Amino acid sequence: MKIAVVGTGYVGLVSGTCFAETGHHVICVDNDSSKVEKLKGGELTIYEPGLDTVFLRNTKEERLSFTTNLEEAVKVSDVIFLALPTPPGEDGSADLSYVLGVAEQIGHIIDKDEYKVLVDKSTVPVGTAEKVHAVVAKNCKGAFDVVSNPEFLREGVAVDDFLRPDRVVIGTSSERAKETMQRLYEPFVRQGNPIYFMDERSAEMTKYAANSYLATRITFMNEIANLCEKVGANVDNVRIGMGSDGRIGKRFLFSGVGYGGSCFPKDVQALFKTAKEHDYDFKLLDSVMGVNGAQKFKLAEKMNAYFDGNLKGKKIAIWGLAFKPNTDDIREAPAIYTIRELLKAGAEVYAYDPEAMENMKEIFGDQVTFVEHRYDALKGVDALGIVTEWNLFRTPDFNYMGELMKDKVIFDGRNLYNTKDMKELGFYYNSIGRTTIY
Ligand code: NAD
Repeated sequence: MKIAVVGTGYVGLVSGTCFAETGHHVICVDNDSSKVEKLKGGELTIYEPGLDTVFLRNTKEERLSFTTNLEEAVKVSDVIFLALPTPPGEDGSADLSYVLGVAEQIGHIIDKDEYKVLVDKSTVPVGTAEKVHAVVAKNCKGAFDVVSNPEFLREGVAVDDFLRPDRVVIGTSSERAKETMQRLYEPFVRQGNPIYFMDERSAEMTKYAANSYLATRITFMNEIANLCEKVGANVDNVRIGMGSDGRIGKRFLFSGVGYGGSCFPKDVQALFKTAKEHDYDFKLLDSVMGVNGAQKFKLAEKMNAYFDGNLKGKKIAIWGLAFKPNTDDIREAPAIYTIRELLKAGAEVYAYDPEAMENMKEIFGDQVTFVEHRYDALKGVDALGIVTEWNLFRTPDFNYMGELMKDKVIFDGRNLYNTKDMKELGFYYNSIGRTTIY
């Protein structure tokens, strides 16, 4: 099959590359010409583990190509995926202008005697497939179907998630489109994972329900952690005790400094807005947003309290800038909120992240000192804050850290270390939902 993927970001580039890997010819379209030039030159535009190998293989074998020309890509393709941004609009609802704008252009391109399948891969509110259909139909001379196929990949393990999805969700009322989608996804579910076919609205809702549930689960654990600190319990013990109940499960129960990223915050907000538009007050999501908003300031608050409200002139190291490990994505990252608070209070910030520093420089420029190596951030600092749980922060040389730092003070937003060890090593160690070590 010939496939076009419109929008070559985290989702589009990974999906396009993985479809090419199963033997299809894929053209990725993006209106950012510098991105397309880089990709054409064999350079990846995002950091995603394992993507380079698959990308290089498929570009070399000419199954994967890139263009800024939508018409050229649509003309030669049987299936067109829309992997475009759906950022929050001013009122919190998903901004559909990218998706509907491109859909309108596609309507002009599909000719008579042609049949194309248009697939919404972006996360879009319930009813969008119908809107896309209407917009395309306005100008379209040929035949087409619109399918809702929400994406569940996680940044950091996106290639693996795409090649071996837990499930694939496809919303369509067309038998013809259903067959096409079945053929496209079969290679990825050979181990027996399901492809669920359903109506478009249910598929659209499934994505929002999944992300909002995960955001709620994290938020619930963050509230438990905050309470643990007050009552002298250890949230890690609580997590293990809870998670081993088969009805609850072990995953996604880690407390920390709040969820971030390009998906959870905007998707929770958009679902809340959808509910409102349908006269439903989704109180639970309102609380989730409120609690998470506060949790992102947790680390800065703890530091401020430790320094008796006077962070002015204090040197603070920050380890971890990406919204989670194994990505360079900093959208809505808790590190942004932490650093902003520290700078506002007059602290000097020294930051390190293995992949996300270039992106963070675009926000803070020279207000923050970005260093080459993790230990470089620690020289003469009054405290270290850990915001992202990259593996390389898990077992550092604590003795060396103690020598570099002015004071042996750590605020750990990801509970990476054992409190007993930190006591023996003589650190002040303040983490989330556990007793502070002096
Ligand atoms: P992204 O910002 O990384 O990529 C979007 C791309 O679309 C950009 O490269 C941008 O230049 C391009 N673009 C914008 N307007 C265009 C136009 N008119 N024509 C061609 N290209 C255009 O976004 P993303 O993270 O890949 O997310 C895309 C969608 O997938 C969103 O709806 C998101 O919610 C959803 N999603 C994201 C993830 C994730 O982990 N990032 C996971 C599942 C679903």
